[in-house]
Amino acid sequence: MKQSELFTKTRREAPADEVAKNAQLLVRAGYIHKEMAGVYDYLPLGLRVIEKIRAIIREEMNAIGGEEVSLSALQDPEIWKATDRWSDEKVDVWFKTAFKNGGEVGLGLTHEEPLTRLMTDHISSYRDLPRYVYQFQDKFRNETRAKSGIMRTREFTMKDLYSFSKDKAEHDAFYEKAKRAYENIFARVGIGDKTYLTYASGGSFSPYSHEFQTVCSTGEDAIYVDDAKKLAVNKEVYGDEKVYEEMGIKKENLKEEKAIEVGNIFTLGTKFSEALGLSYKDAEGKTTPVFMGSYGIGLGRLMGTIVEVFADDKGLVWPESVAPLKYHIVSLGKEGDEISQLADALYNDLKNAGVEVLYDDRDMSAGQKFADSDLLGIPKRIVVGKDAVNTGKFEIVDRASGEVNKAERAELIS
Ligand code: ATP
Ligand code: MG
Repeated sequence: MKQSELFTKTRREAPADEVAKNAQLLVRAGYIHKEMAGVYDYLPLGLRVIEKIRAIIREEMNAIGGEEVSLSALQDPEIWKATDRWSDEKVDVWFKTAFKNGGEVGLGLTHEEPLTRLMTDHISSYRDLPRYVYQFQDKFRNETRAKSGIMRTREFTMKDLYSFSKDKAEHDAFYEKAKRAYENIFARVGIGDKTYLTYASGGSFSPYSHEFQTVCSTGEDAIYVDDAKKLAVNKEVYGDEKVYEEMGIKKENLKEEKAIEVGNIFTLGTKFSEALGLSYKDAEGKTTPVFMGSYGIGLGRLMGTIVEVFADDKGLVWPESVAPLKYHIVSLGKEGDEISQLADALYNDLKNAGVEVLYDDRDMSAGQKFADSDLLGIPKRIVVGKDAVNTGKFEIVDRASGEVNKAERAELIS
């Protein structure tokens, strides 16, 4: 990808209406555009990051048996009335609208109701279970707080998986697998060491649910962490003495931290299946409600968290696994000169070798180009200047550590 062909521009100044570091940097670097408070668009580089995150999550969901679908955002009020979640008193973030020819419709904030009803067409026998169904889908939530940039928005893509099991034992076994899959995801995107399995309040079918909370000074949530055990509790259960027994930790060892909820897993039990008539016949022919769980991760929130955790005073810093591109060639030449020719050749070689590379081929000062390169945060910068022409060696600068190495063209390509 040539930078001269990228329509997005960088800017020096942070937008005056952004308070969150993630939004300030992502807007400045041209990764996102703000439509209005809590509503953002993803531009070419931003979308590449989202797609990297999506691919990692998809691999992990497929690895635990997930089957991918895509459900509509438009929601039938009837099914939400059946679970008593249609009223604005019960759910305070609804976006509701109406059809022209009459009748209300909701914009989905989560998908337990429609998927549970959908599954009644496909599940009738114990032979049809268990099933694990997931999607990457846009959720709409009428959030009143919208000050955290892309970490809390009014429309966002969530990976939501729902599990359908015969009974609690089968559910519990999958729930543990889902926990491991979530740990893999957060490790792979680079925040594993800062992300804690956090006990939160449950529902009628399990005493606790679990959040995945990433410790970060700009987080909206407070959690209490046991560093040695890599576990935490959130505010909801902090005062509940029973939770410490269950977790095998001591309350006095906990340390309060600010954190961001990057994921949430929940035992739903038979709440939705009973309300919406999702049941199966067991081996003896007895009709039994399906036992469910739900498992969410917000892609934008995760991207914003990665920004908050790694960015420095010069700009974004992407872990390699989610970076929009892996290398950033910064040419210090003028069009047609030896330096430019060398940079062009290196770009073509890397591209042909299948390397993801952004090439700054613009006619700008070295200072501006380096500042932009720092802002964009691509993991490795390859500088092509006089030195490279004279010695045949390229300077490679690691964005995160600032470490400088030298390599020849052949080495780079291999
Ligand atoms: P929060 O407590 O932060 O409001 P939640 O508990 O309502 O979130 P869930 O319904 O469990 O969130 O949604 C699953 C995941 O979706 C969350 O863990 C988070 O990653 C993401 N998410 C939730 N709300 C938003 C939002 N407004 N903007 C972006 N991502 C969100
Ligand atoms: Mg939550």
